[in-house]
Amino acid sequence: MSFTLKPIIDKTTSARLQKLINDAEHIVITCHVSPDGDALGSSLGLCQVLQDLGKSAVVVTPDMVPRQLLFIPNVKSIVVASCQPHVARQCISRADLIFFLDFNELKRIDKLAEIVEISSAERVMIDHHLDPAPIASITISHPEVSSTSALVYRVLNDLGYIDKLNIAGATCICTGMMTDTGNFSYNSLDPQLYLIMADLVARGVDKDEVYRSVFNTSSESKLRLQGYAISRNLRLFHEYGTALITLSGEELNQYHYERGDTEGLVNVPLSIPGIRCSVFMRQDSENYVKISARSIGDFPVNLVCERYFGGGGHLNAAGGDWNGSLDEAVSTFIRIMESDSDLWNKKETIH
Ligand code: 5GP
Ligand code: MN
Repeated sequence: MSFTLKPIIDKTTSARLQKLINDAEHIVITCHVSPDGDALGSSLGLCQVLQDLGKSAVVVTPDMVPRQLLFIPNVKSIVVASCQPHVARQCISRADLIFFLDFNELKRIDKLAEIVEISSAERVMIDHHLDPAPIASITISHPEVSSTSALVYRVLNDLGYIDKLNIAGATCICTGMMTDTGNFSYNSLDPQLYLIMADLVARGVDKDEVYRSVFNTSSESKLRLQGYAISRNLRLFHEYGTALITLSGEELNQYHYERGDTEGLVNVPLSIPGIRCSVFMRQDSENYVKISARSIGDFPVNLVCERYFGGGGHLNAAGGDWNGSLDEAVSTFIRIMESDSDLWNKKETIH
C-alpha cells in the first residue's frame, strides 16, 4: 500500500514519554473547560489504553460533560472538578504524571490550573492549538493535525501501545476525530486520517452510530432555539462576507436553553455563498458573553478572537469572551469589522 501511518514523534521523545509512563503510578488526564468531543474523546481514549497498561489513570475535567456527549464510552468514569472539587484535588495531588490534552495554556482549565500549578507531577501536553505555552516537560504540539484524538492515536502507535486500544477507546478517538472535522467535512484532507479511521472501524467502532449520536441527535428545545436564532437574529454583512447571530439571556430562557443547545449554530451561515466568517454571541449572564467564530478558507477567526475577545483557537474555529453587555459586544464587533482592514479589507479573500 502506498499510504502508511507515519511516525509523528521522534525516537527521543518516544523514549522519554515511555519512561514517564513506565515510572508513573497515578496518572491524571485533563482537558479544557466546556469539553467538546475532541477533548473528551482524546482524554478517554488515552485513559483506556493507560488503564490497560496497568496504570491507575483518570480523566479530570474542569466542568460538566454536555448532554449530547454522554454517549461516549466510559464518560461516567470522569471526575468533574466543578461537581466534585475534593475528589479532583485528591486525584491531582496524588498524580505523578499529568496529561494536558486539547489545550495549550493553563487558563483553559479554569480553576484546575491552581491545583495543577502546585503539583510536582511530570506534565505532558498533546495538543493541536497554535502557540503552546511552555507548561509541560514534553510538548507534543501539532496544529496541522485536525484533532487531538488523531494525535493521541498516532502517539500511541509510535509508543507501541496501539494494540491496547479496545473498542471503547477506539470509539472515543473516532468521536474526537469526527467532531473536530465536522464529520470529515473540513480540515480533513490528510490521508493519514483515513488510515486511522480504517483501523478504528476494523477494531469494531460503529462509525455510523457515532455520527448519529453526534450530528443527528437533537432535542425539541434545541431545534426551536436554533430555528428562532436563525430566523430572528441572523445579521448578514455581505460587504464583509460576515454573519453574526446573537442570543440574549432572555431569549435563551424563553427557549429553555440547556448547554449544548447552540452547538453547531455558528456554522450555519457559512452555507451562504460569499459568507466566509461567522460569529455567534451568547449572553450567558448579564455581563458575560461567550463568543464562537468559524470561517472558511484563509480568514483567520483565531486572530479576531485573540485581538478583541481575549481568546484564540484555530484558523477556522475559535472563541473568546466579552465582559460587558450583549449590545456592547455587538457594536464593538461591528466597529472592529469596519475598522480592522487587515482582517476584513482583503476583499479578494473574502469573496
Ligand atoms: P467553540 O466555538 O466550539 O466554543 O470553540 C471553538 C474553538 O475555539 C475551541 O476548540 C478552542 O480551540 C477555541 N476557543 C473557544 N473559546 C476559547 C477561549 O475562550 N479561549 C481560547 N484561547 N480559545 C477558545
Ligand atoms: Mn480539538
